[in-house]
Amino acid sequence: MTSFIKNILEKDYFTKEDLISLLSANQKNARIIFEKARETKLKFVGNKVYFRGLIEFSNFCSKNCYYCGIRSDNKRYRRYHLSDEEVLEAANYAYKHNYSSIVIQSGEMRSQAFVTRIESLLKSIHEQTDKKLHITLSLGEQTEKTYRRWFEAGAHRYLLRIEVSNPELYRKLHPSDPKHDFLKRIEALKILRETGYQVGTGVMIGLPFQTIPDLADDLIFFRDFDIDMVGMGPYLEHEDTPLYQFRDLLMPQPERFRLSLKMIAILRILMKDINIAATTAMQTIDPRGREKAIMVGANVIMPNLTPLKYRNDYLLYENKPCIDENPETCNSCLEVRIAMAGDEIGYGEWGDSKHFKNKIDS
Ligand code: SF4
Repeated sequence: MTSFIKNILEKDYFTKEDLISLLSANQKNARIIFEKARETKLKFVGNKVYFRGLIEFSNFCSKNCYYCGIRSDNKRYRRYHLSDEEVLEAANYAYKHNYSSIVIQSGEMRSQAFVTRIESLLKSIHEQTDKKLHITLSLGEQTEKTYRRWFEAGAHRYLLRIEVSNPELYRKLHPSDPKHDFLKRIEALKILRETGYQVGTGVMIGLPFQTIPDLADDLIFFRDFDIDMVGMGPYLEHEDTPLYQFRDLLMPQPERFRLSLKMIAILRILMKDINIAATTAMQTIDPRGREKAIMVGANVIMPNLTPLKYRNDYLLYENKPCIDENPETCNSCLEVRIAMAGDEIGYGEWGDSKHFKNKIDS
């Protein structure tokens, strides 16, 4: 089996069967995959980990995804929008501490007031920080016009997770209505690409009804779409969501974690120069989850800059870590964690996706 896995890893192109074999590898063989992924990471993107200061702008959402804690039907959260001052203060913190990049994330809203507010915040952030910060948006599906307005106002990257690449599984995880349409989501990713963004997406790992071939298809989706950035991690159940009723179908959390680690490592080998995030969901299961993700291929981390008083209201899943840590504590903790993983923080560098740059240059 060991030489079988080694033979697959020697290939230039992985078939779906190859990916299934890699995802099914036992612990001993997984170590071989992790070593190869680490080697690939160091060769193609180096040992720098880039910060993206995360600003959870609002927990209002017009959608009702069955797995998400802030879905519109969940009335147990106090809903909030950050004020302009709070957003600018968080962006300024990132600027002053040499993060070089921030992510503005919220539930999906499409009103003109929301679109205009984001546009004006983008301009204000750039004015306040001498255009030194690169800005990623993660604000869901929007019209082409909106994506363009935000791009022209200075957004550089956009994250839109597809969550699963299998349309049938997608239907099981979302209400059947035009607001939750798989094809529209794919179309939105294409529009983002055409608009000029560095485009990121991602999936959940270990969902009820999800199979190993589904995960192999997710990896193939990233490759076929030629994605620039990926953020993915284990599915974590939330008791205030409809999907919670299927918790008995779930594999144990440590197994979901191990599978997520394999997904990250295989993706690094598959798409050598993309950016891959070590998500907080990894740390929810394993206290050293993000370091482990970094060791096997991830090169981006998102320290939370949302003001502490709002963090308990932005729980997409339960037991989210770091909700009571201020940015200073978080910074020193991450510095230690990243050094333990054998990497260093790329302070003062944008850390754009090399994959995106290579495409532009070619
Ligand atoms: S996953 Fe995103 S779009 Fe779906 S309910 Fe949660 S915040 Fe809204």
